[in-house]
Amino acid sequence: MSETILIRGARILGGAAQDVLISGGTVTEIGTGLEAPGATVVEAAGHILLPGLVDLHTHLREPGREDSETVLTGTRAAAAGGYTAVHAMANTFPVADTAGVVEQVWRLGKESGYCDVQPVGAVTVGLEGKQLAELGAMADSAAQVRVFSDDGKCVDDAVIMRRALEYVKAFDGVVAQHAQEPRLTEGAQMNEGTVSGELGLTGWPAVAEESVIARDVLLAAHVGSRVHICHLSTAGSVEIVRWAKSKGWDVTAEVTPHHLLLTDELVRSYNPVYKVNPPLRTEADVMALREALADGTIDCVATDHAPHPHEDKDCEWAAAAMGMVGLETALSVVQHTMVDTGLLDWAGVADRMSARPAAIGRLAGHGRPVATGEPANLVLLDPAYRGVVNPAGFASRSRNTPYEGRELPGRVVATFLRGRATVMDGKLT
Ligand SMILES: [Zn+2]
Repeated sequence: MSETILIRGARILGGAAQDVLISGGTVTEIGTGLEAPGATVVEAAGHILLPGLVDLHTHLREPGREDSETVLTGTRAAAAGGYTAVHAMANTFPVADTAGVVEQVWRLGKESGYCDVQPVGAVTVGLEGKQLAELGAMADSAAQVRVFSDDGKCVDDAVIMRRALEYVKAFDGVVAQHAQEPRLTEGAQMNEGTVSGELGLTGWPAVAEESVIARDVLLAAHVGSRVHICHLSTAGSVEIVRWAKSKGWDVTAEVTPHHLLLTDELVRSYNPVYKVNPPLRTEADVMALREALADGTIDCVATDHAPHPHEDKDCEWAAAAMGMVGLETALSVVQHTMVDTGLLDWAGVADRMSARPAAIGRLAGHGRPVATGEPANLVLLDPAYRGVVNPAGFASRSRNTPYEGRELPGRVVATFLRGRATVMDGKLT
């Protein structure tokens, strides 16, 4: 049984201070001057209360790469970052391309207890792009998969992509595309542009991303299905998604926190912590992504939390693995880039980091309003906090953050999963 908790004086979605009573896993009362004898009281003056965050794009690495992350350590990192649900990407070993593997990940999530884990199913067998995986069996499994992705790899065969889009319609699923034209990015090491030219590194042109997005929004429209674009990273991609939405097509898109803040100028350091797929782009791209997230062209923020062990990053640029951890810093980066800049208010953050991703993933019980009768999946944060990122304190098993030593605003004070605190006083329970 979950206990009774009284949150005192929190600003719900950044509004006026109110008290929130949680009991039996549900928000039971909201008002001022609430009393609840015997309840655990959380003093929250000046703190913001949002629905628990939902990530559409997390790499938990289990099964197969438990040296970088496990479902348990990854969900602890998620809770520490204010998340109550994450979608676990399919590029594990073995690949999550059968009902058996997605059910295994789903069950490990249940056992972890720190946040809900919704497995993503692979689109193709072994992520090889040649043969459709058992999409229907994964949808019908205990895990009830609704999001399918070969993330890490692009579904580059147009016929396979078309079949996947047609297939997922039967159970209201969505194909989440990692848009990367493989031939245009062979040997690519960073964004193609001025900096890659000066450094002599093989470039990764924006058109490699944009051409796949253009094809896929057209395909989704053609078959009347849903497509979701993973980690959009260029200004041109924004324009294509904006155009597709103007047509009324069922197209959604996500942006990562790092693409809202960091640029390819950082690659001049040759520090592999900045090596990521898609690559860090230019300042103009960053500004276009922020605007698109503010105006709703980009639906949501997704972390693309990609843990790697030290040895896979502690090497020369060309040999280093691509990816960054992100669960524990996402909310701070969004506050820094979107809220403190005046582009988005806290209600907007609740929409882009909770309601929209839950809706895209068809995830019941998450992304709900903070209101009486709703499940108590909540995050309480202190927006006035300022701190320097220290990866030694991460709950994640990996430390490959691009923000080490950087001051970022905001701190998760408490996270509640169905009324039970997974984080309290800024610490995992
Ligand atoms: Zn990806």
